[in-house]
Formats: sequence, C-alpha cells, structure tokens
Amino acid sequence: MIYLDNAATTFPKPHRVTAEVMRCLTEYCGNPGRGSHRLALAAAEQIFSCREALSSFLGVGAPERILFTQNTTYALNLAIKGFLRQGDHVLISELEHNAVRRPICVLAAKGQITFDVFPVVGLTQDELLLRLAEKITPATRAVICTHASNICSITLPIARIGALCRKRGIRLIVDAAQSAGILPIDMKTMHIDALAAPGHKSLYGIQGCGFLAIGKDFALEPLMEGGSGVDSLPAEMPTDPPERFEAGTLPTPAIVGLLEGVRSLTSGTARDLAARERELFCAATERLSSLPDIHIFAKEHTGSVLLFQKDGVSAAELGRHLGSKGICVRTGLHCAPMAHKALGTPDGGAVRVSFGRYNTPSDVDSLWEALKS
Ligand code: PLP
Repeated sequence: MIYLDNAATTFPKPHRVTAEVMRCLTEYCGNPGRGSHRLALAAAEQIFSCREALSSFLGVGAPERILFTQNTTYALNLAIKGFLRQGDHVLISELEHNAVRRPICVLAAKGQITFDVFPVVGLTQDELLLRLAEKITPATRAVICTHASNICSITLPIARIGALCRKRGIRLIVDAAQSAGILPIDMKTMHIDALAAPGHKSLYGIQGCGFLAIGKDFALEPLMEGGSGVDSLPAEMPTDPPERFEAGTLPTPAIVGLLEGVRSLTSGTARDLAARERELFCAATERLSSLPDIHIFAKEHTGSVLLFQKDGVSAAELGRHLGSKGICVRTGLHCAPMAHKALGTPDGGAVRVSFGRYNTPSDVDSLWEALKS
C-alpha cells in the first residue's frame, strides 16, 4: 500500500506516538483533573506537558491558552460562535473548508452576522492583501481563513494578513489544519488571535483531539457547559482557561499521542520534513506533467498538496483506479466546494495527493506508473 492521503490524516504514526498511547492506556490513563490519585495526576501532568509543548511550538505565550477539543471543526466552531456577536461582519477566504464555511453560513442565515468572501486564487500576495483590505467595513470584526489549502498547494500570507488586521483593529482566526507541523507558526509575531488545529494530521498525534490556541486578550465564550473537575459548586463554568472551555473528560490517550507527535517535530528535523514533502511535491508535479491529459491545479504554489485531474475521466474513477493499484488518494470536493469553484475543477472535483514524513521518491514513481497505465 502507498499512502498518499496525509492531508486527511497522517499515516502511519511515529513509533514513539503509538508506544506512548499504549503506555497511557496500560499504565496511567486516569481521568485528568478528576481525582488526586496517582493515575489521575499522571494523566493531568501529561496533558499539561502537551499544553506546554504546543504553546512553545506555536508561540502562544501561555500553556493554559491551549484549549483541547475533539477536532479542528469543534475548535473553529468554538472560535467562531464563542467570539462573534450580533451585527458583526466577517471576512473569509474563498479557500475555506466547510469547518469554517458552514458555521459562518449558519450564523449568517440566522441573521446574526454578515460575511464576505475574499479571493485568493491567481493573486499575488500584494493583490490578495489589497482585495482583502477593500472588503473591510466598519462592522468587520474578524478575518477567518485557512493557512494552507486542504486541496492544493496554495498557502496564505498569514503574517501579512495578521499585520493588516492588527492595524485595522480586526481579529484574525486561523484554520491551521493543514499547516500546523509543516509551516512555521508563531501566533504572537503573526498577530493571530485564535488558531485551530487537529492533533492527527501533521502534528502526528492520533485521531481524537484537536485544539484552539487563543491570544491573551481574545474575548471568547464557551460553546459547552459541564463538569470541569475544579470549582464544582457554581452553576457557571470556571472563569479561567483552559477549564472554562473544556467541559467533560478530555481524551487523554489522544493528547499524549499529540505530545509525542510534537516532540518528534521539535527534535530538530521539522524543517527537513517540510522540505522533503516539498521535494516529493515537485517530483510528482514534474512526473505528472509529462503525462498526456493530466491537468495540475495551482502547481506553481508553495505548499505540498497536489491536486490534479485527467481529461475525460471522473475524479472518482481515477481514485478507484489508483486504489486498485494500492495507492490511497482522496477524490471529490474535499469539503471545500468554494475552493474547487475558485480553481475551476470539474463538477466531480479532482484527485488530491498529499505527502507525509514516511513517503519516499519511489511512491511518486508508483503514482506515475499507475497513472500511465
Ligand atoms: N480545515 C481544514 C483546512 C481541513 O483540511 C480539515 C480536515 O481535513 C478541517 C478543517 C477539519 O478538521 P477535523 O476533521 O480535524 O475537524
């Protein structure tokens, strides 16, 4: 099997991740924050270590401002619904995943907010910033956008968008589902107010947790109420993060997996990994360009997600063919219909190939051979 679907979830996971998850399950998986016995304390300690690791990896500035969630989607819903107020106007990019697009559309349909979409495809960074600035109104309270597209190799100039937002008194909420672990992120210097990411993609944890990292003065309300393990008497949630935002039991095994995933990225090879994924992307782009009728979308950009289509063959059919050769890719609209529309893919979408740390140049050769046949 050749796994080229790392944008959906990375596979396989580093041994240190699976080993620690297993150690957690067999040696210390008490309920964190719910008791003072050895197992509960050990779980809580590991969870705090994960907050510390993420906070320092992403330039958050305080471990308690890492709020664990079940996935990126929940983290984005928390940021969007916990921050926006009646009458706010927001700007989202045309590359947004449904994890941003749908909550925004629902709030707009209820008459709570208005929104506008800024273009990205085919624009230089300067043009993008100009088009974004043109859409700002006196009611604009947030820009919400992805860092890296989940369907093609386009990345957004987040630091420049952050600087613009800061200058105009607007908050920046970033969907880092496809960038955390690959692209450098420093929330403070990039002026990011809230950043959502999954544990199970390029941070190399397992499925079951994501997080929202928030800036110091980001005024957020919880999305859920419930037990927090501390301060049980009041009817309201505790006032401070992270407990204020983490109702119910946390997924300790997923969080310790994420901790090991982050540690594996900070052990000196993270930059090499991004460069290697990029090399594989360039090799695949070159190989596929030599095949007749193959059209690659956004191939000149700087990310490493490759989107292509073959004339006269549907994406689904192409995906089935690759699957029959043992090559795992993802086809269709990838939960990002606006992005497909902007790129001009056919009705059934296109084929996405996404690399991870365990892919090699021979995987690119196999993809090319399978497409040739
Ligand atoms: N945003 C982007 C850009 C994504 O690629 C994904 C998932 O692929 C998500 C959000 C949603 O992530 P999750 O499935 O962890 O909620």
